[in-house]
Amino acid sequence: MTTLQLQDLKKSFDDVVAVKGLDLVVEDGEFLVIVGPSGCGKSTTLRLLAGLERATDGRILMDGRDVTAVEPEERNVAMVFQNYALYPHMTGRRNITFGLRSAGDFTDEEIEQRLEQAAETLDITDLLDRKPKAMSGGERQRVALGRAIVRDPDAFLLDEPLSNLDAKLRIQMRAELTKLHDQLGTTTVYVTHDQTEAMTLGERVVVMRDGRIMQVAPPQELYDSPANRFVAEFIGDPAMNMLDVGLDGGRAVHDAFSIPLPVGERGGPGERPGSGRPFGGRRSAVLGIRPEDLSLTDRAADPAVEPFPATVEVTEPLGDSLLAHCSVGGSVVKIQAAPRTDVRPGDEIEVAYDPARLHLFDPETGKAFYHAEGALAAPAEVNRVGGD
Ligand code: ATP
Repeated sequence: MTTLQLQDLKKSFDDVVAVKGLDLVVEDGEFLVIVGPSGCGKSTTLRLLAGLERATDGRILMDGRDVTAVEPEERNVAMVFQNYALYPHMTGRRNITFGLRSAGDFTDEEIEQRLEQAAETLDITDLLDRKPKAMSGGERQRVALGRAIVRDPDAFLLDEPLSNLDAKLRIQMRAELTKLHDQLGTTTVYVTHDQTEAMTLGERVVVMRDGRIMQVAPPQELYDSPANRFVAEFIGDPAMNMLDVGLDGGRAVHDAFSIPLPVGERGGPGERPGSGRPFGGRRSAVLGIRPEDLSLTDRAADPAVEPFPATVEVTEPLGDSLLAHCSVGGSVVKIQAAPRTDVRPGDEIEVAYDPARLHLFDPETGKAFYHAEGALAAPAEVNRVGGD
């Protein structure tokens, strides 16, 4: 049973403020991923949890106990690093058991038992007598995980553990990490800059930017209801299209189109129930549409959809889809079309959209104030964590 809690946690390095007041609870047994661009403070947050950095302000609690000033070796957490951090002169076996032996708390028999179990779980029995230079990157990372597992820690802290592996091995190891977590059920915090890794591994994902949390949510919720423009553009590849629009009579108005915004039963887009002010009185917005929610069409079947004209600029066949870069008035819009769609640069096309998948962001703050899907299901109340 291990719950981790960060309370207004801050960390400065001289004049660089790396972490700017984080509040976060990692539930017992949860697999939580922290994702964000380089320099956003992910690793510093993890190192604060491990005790490798001392907080400038705020508190860290483990199961309610204040560990902010507790030394790393007293925290019973195991950290796994991107560069494996194995001792080159030791075999896999010694690398895995070294920490247990030097702690002096275990009998030889216990150590052997733990080693055997970890080796079986990670399928590394035949690596135990090899030194790291005789192992592949994936094998080294498994041994590094073995070293973490044998300690039976209260929490695993993983810092970009798959970054040094090639793409195919990364995908394989992702699945193995999920399986391992299902098996062990240990509270895990995993740091990565890779949004696909975050989406596939995390039960919940924390998106960070510039030392702050922009949103915390399960992966699908981040994707479907981003709290702000930063999350909307960071999560998803190709990125969400963003278009400056005016708001007029329940429609999004661009120089090339005017499309109706779906309205829920309990009020207009962005309207707080009973306020009588559509869009909260806003006159302009940034309209967000994901490339896969747009399609190339002559006529859309859905009468609620009003297709708009575009000109194809560039096409990229991706095998399982075709990405068309199109100009729509003065804007460029990416459309993820069916594979082998017959379009060429210069073609004049009509673009349809999924009306339930439109998003509006405040042009000044970047905060989301309307997700069509939410507006159709309930009042337009969106997750309001963070801004842009
Ligand atoms: P990356 O993905 O590149 O590792 P990150 O999100 O993990 O980035 P951090 O390593 O936590 O980011 O760094 C956050 C900020 O703090 C950066 O501006 C970084 O330069 C700074 N920083 C981190 N460690 C130190 C240090 N020991 N001394 C000074 N500045 C530091």
